[in-house]
This record gives sequence, structure tokens and C-alpha cells, in this order.
Amino acid sequence: MKISKSLFVTKKEEPADAEVRSHALMVRAGFIQQIAAGIYVYGPLMWRVLRKIETIVREEHDRAGCQELLMPALQPRELWEESGRWERYVADKILYHFEDGRGREVCLGPTHEEVITNFVKGRITSYKQLPQNLYQIQTKFRDETRPRFGLMRGREFVMKDAYSFDASAEGMAASYAVMRDVYRNIFTRCGVRFTPVEADAGAIGDAASEEFMVDADTGEDAIAVCRTTGYAANTEKAVSKISAPPEPEAEVAMHKEPTPAAKSCEDLRALFPDLPLERMLKTILYRATWLDRDQVVAVMCRGDREINTIKLQNALDCLAVELADEKTVKAVTGAAVGFAGPIGLADDVRLMADASVEGVKGFLCGGNETDTHYLDVYFGRDLEQPETHELGLVQSGDATVDGEGTIEITRGIEVGHIFQLGTKYSEAMDCRFADENGKLQPFHMGCYGIGVSRTAAAAIEQGHDDGGMIWPLPIAPYHVMIIQMRAGDEAQEGLAQELHDQLEAQGIEVLWDDRKMGAGGKFKDADLVGIPMRVVVGRDAADRKVEWKPRTGGEVEVISADDVLARVQAAFDA
Ligand code: ATP
Ligand code: MG
Repeated sequence: MKISKSLFVTKKEEPADAEVRSHALMVRAGFIQQIAAGIYVYGPLMWRVLRKIETIVREEHDRAGCQELLMPALQPRELWEESGRWERYVADKILYHFEDGRGREVCLGPTHEEVITNFVKGRITSYKQLPQNLYQIQTKFRDETRPRFGLMRGREFVMKDAYSFDASAEGMAASYAVMRDVYRNIFTRCGVRFTPVEADAGAIGDAASEEFMVDADTGEDAIAVCRTTGYAANTEKAVSKISAPPEPEAEVAMHKEPTPAAKSCEDLRALFPDLPLERMLKTILYRATWLDRDQVVAVMCRGDREINTIKLQNALDCLAVELADEKTVKAVTGAAVGFAGPIGLADDVRLMADASVEGVKGFLCGGNETDTHYLDVYFGRDLEQPETHELGLVQSGDATVDGEGTIEITRGIEVGHIFQLGTKYSEAMDCRFADENGKLQPFHMGCYGIGVSRTAAAAIEQGHDDGGMIWPLPIAPYHVMIIQMRAGDEAQEGLAQELHDQLEAQGIEVLWDDRKMGAGGKFKDADLVGIPMRVVVGRDAADRKVEWKPRTGGEVEVISADDVLARVQAAFDA
């Protein structure tokens, strides 16, 4: 493709709102244009990248025996009523929904469990037809509260979603294992560095679920990893071994102490320098919301630990938790913020504890009275230990649960998510098949998503430098860029054409910069769009000599034009 004949417009200025490099570079290079927050035009170069990712996704799914279909983006409310998800998605404000001309409510699909379950219902009727795995690549719609980071978090984005149907939990686990390999193959072939991590399965609880994270400091997800044991989990789900709390020297009776203006553990340490943080128990107040109600929840936790609100939300099986506001804190504790404790809270508060409080003796806790704390408190003696759950946030330096290694916190971009759903949707939507005995059974399902457009952005987060993008060869918009130094120079034109034709004949995609402009601008643009291999056709064209100038990781070399094809093929083989 000659650049002079194509729509190729680059910009010098970065968009003012770009918080990450992939966003800034894609806009500057003309790959995307923002139409509204989180809504983009994918320009021709971007679309080539997305199609390449899609091709890899298709090939790997097809190879594993999955079948492609296409479901509608527009979905009727009734289907979502069947699964019981309508109200939740509306309450979460993630769903685009509206009334059609006939007064019927519809939504733009954020995901397709309902439609696929409905499709399979009455179509797969016997165990003999199982297992099945169906997938599509399609635009998804989610009214994200904070659309940002360019293609990383759009309100309209390209997703591949697959759904497996099995006769049993074991079958589901086997289908899931196949998909885990499919995902590894896909991201390896895309040329990105990634880590599969254990993921939060939400209210489904113990269901197996893994996310595929592209390693990047700019990633929105924090991941707990251990280089020794290989443990890797999203911090939303991660667990660690918590050090044992130090024992008090002697058991004494509980007593109330004045603690003027001491609202934090730090303030309290100044007052009680001999009391270790592990024996200071915080009581944090949250407001939890369910569809039909809300409640204040007080959560106790060791002074050296933090609460993970995702775990708390799962334990409560509620829609959301947020820190209680000052007014609420005052109302339920009768004290200023900073003095909440387990003793003497308002009756309608649900008291819970994180597992870190277990075994802590002779502790300090808030007095539910301004400027007051209790000291030398014991569970069992002074109060019952409240309902206790594993609610803690894993911290860097924690030991792994098996005690064999140490946890580090790194960051990643979630590009894929695989999930065992069990019979959640098939039961809710009464979608069943006849087993060997002719008895009706609900399907065991799995769902598997890949953010196609997010994967492209993640590849740039991982591959860029000051000059611009650096595409991995398998998903680069073109494989080779020919930079012709002088437009109109006969020898250069002739050699560039020859190389172009020779490479294209081998299925190698060539972008040919034949524009009438200075070499400096051409090199800048070549750096910006990041085509991995580059050939400069310049002064020595008459001698059939060109410069071989890879985008990164290689020396600039003068080579014979006759060797270009071999060089390109060697890069593909590497
Ligand atoms: P996140 O936690 O980032 O909001 P999610 O867990 O809600 O994502 P899934 O429902 O698991 O997302 O969707 C499958 C895949 O789709 C994700 O792994 C991600 O790669 C991609 N994806 C999800 N939301 C977006 C978005 N707003 N923009 C681009 N890609 C997205
Ligand atoms: Mg996810």
C-alpha cells in the first residue's frame, strides 16, 4: 500500500486527556478517533490490527472445536428478567437500555449469557449432543462510569465471547481446561507478555475463574505474584499467610482510656508506643447495598492489615459496599469518626471481622465515644468474636499461604477472563437436556471473554518508546515499511516497487512511504506507527543497496536489495 494513495494522517500533538501511552500514540498516529467518551472510530490501520487479533482468536477457537456464530447486540428485557440480571445491571448503571417504538424495553448487550442460553434451549436436547462451545466476535456496550485510557476501557468495544455447555461439572472443568490452553496460545501468538491469574468469581463463590493479564505498570489491576511458588492471583481474590500476632505479657481486665484526637493507628502508636499494630484492631464502617435494602456493616481488622471491599461484597452477597459517610458513623457509634469499635454499636449494625483478628489477645479497639478507646480486650471474655470471614487485602511482603514464598504486587491489564458458571443461567432460564436416563438436567456452562480492542491497546502499553508504537509482528498493521527517501527519483521508485511486489507476492504486507516530503518527517512517522521491519530505499538504490532498519532491537545495516526477502522471512521464522 502506497501511503500517498491511502488515508494516512499523523499528528504532532497528543490528546490532552490521554493518561496512558497507548491512547496518546493511537490518536497521534491516526489509528483511532474519539467520537465521544469511550467511543471510537477504528481507522484503517487500527482495523488491520483488530482483524489480525480476531484471526488469531478465530483460528485458535476453531482448532479447539469451538463454533463461531453471531448474536444480536440488541436484546429484549424479558431475557434478562429470566436470568434475574436486569435490575442489577440497571442498578449498576452499566447497561444501555431504552424503550423501542412499541414501548418495549431493550438493551445493548454488555455480554451474552442470556441470548446464548436462550439459543441453546430446545436446540441441544440430549446429552449425546454435548459438549458444545459457541463463540462470537462482536461489539459490546457498557456504560462504564469512567471510560478512559483509550481502547482500554471503552463504552463500545470489540469482545470475543465464548460459551461452553456440558452435561456435568467434570465436563465443564474439561471444557474450561481446553479454553485455558486456547487463551495461552492466543496471547502467545499475539506476541504479548502475559500472566494467567486466579480471579474473583463474584457471588458464584468458589467457581474456577482466571484472568489473563498483560504485564504492564499502567494496568488497572493489581496482581499478587510469588516468583518462588508461581502463585498468581488478582488482589481482588488473592490470599496470603498472615503473621501471628504477638502475645500480651499478662492478661489484665479491659479498661477504657482517653485517647484525645487519636483517630488513626498512627496517632494511637504515639499514645501507646509499646502496643504493636497487630494488637490494635480497627473497626471500619461501610454501607452495603442490596437490591431492596441497605445496611451499615462494621468490619474489624488488624491494624497492620486492610480490608478488601470485593471480598466483603462477596461475603455479604450485596451489590455494592462503600465507606459509610460521617453522618452515618456518628449516628451508629455516637462518636466522631475514628472511634468506632465493636462494643456498644447501634443494634441495626452488622458486625463482622476479617480473619486477621483471630487469635489476637489483649487488643485495643474504638470505644464508640469520642476521644476514647478500650484496651486489653479479649474475644470470648469481653465480647464474642463476630462472624469472621477472609476479607483482607494481600500486601507486598506477605508470605504465601503454604509459607514457601513471598508475595509481590505487580500490575496488569485484564485482556481475557475465563469462568466456570455452573448451572446458574441454565437453571434460572430453565434450559435443560435429557441425560442417559432420560432425566432433564440443567447444562453446566462456562464463559470465556477476550477484549480484542483492549488487547491491541495492551500490546502498545507493553511495546512503545519515546518515538512511538512498537508492534509485535503477528498483529502489526503491516509487516514491512518501505521508506523511499525521494519521491519521483526513478531508481528509488523502481527498486521500491520491485521490493514491494516481491514481498507482497509472498503474502508479506508492505506499507510504502512514497510521499513527497523530507526524510526527517518520514522517519518520525515510521517510528510513530511502529511497523516492525523497515527498508530505506535511498541514494544507493541505483546500486541495488538499501538500509535494513528494524523498528527496535537491531542495527541499521546496508544490505543488497536481493537479501531483503530473506531478512524478512528470517524475522517471521524467529
Ligand atoms: P473490567 O474488570 O476491566 O471492567 P470485566 O471483568 O467487567 O472487565 P469481562 O466481563 O470479564 O470484563 O469481559 C471480558 C473481557 O472484555 C475483559 O477481560 C476485557 O479484556 C474486555 N473488556 C471488558 N470491559 C471492557 C471495556 N470497557 N473496554 C474494553 N475492553 C473491555
Ligand atoms: Mg473480567
